[in-house]
Amino acid sequence: MSSARRIWRLLNASCHDVSRLASESFDRELVGLERFALRSHTVYCAACRRYERQLRFVRAALCRLATETALAQSLGGPALPDEAREQIKRAVEDAETF
Ligand SMILES: [Zn+2]
Repeated sequence: MSSARRIWRLLNASCHDVSRLASESFDRELVGLERFALRSHTVYCAACRRYERQLRFVRAALCRLATETALAQSLGGPALPDEAREQIKRAVEDAETF
């Protein structure tokens, strides 16, 4: 894809594209134009703002859980039950499909 076409596409990004960028922003640093596309889109799109907020919430919850689980395991406590593991997996999948 030419750079002009890529710029045009990012500046006119759909909610689908922006939700993908929001997800990717948790895995890698977005380049300048991607960051701009994400920020400018979420200024006027409540759905994408909500999606981004949900991603942050799930990520924070998983980080807290990982920390608490590691602490519990280091203290000889029980590992995360399979049922809780499945609930987390479903929550992450639901947040990603939005
Ligand atoms: Zn949107």
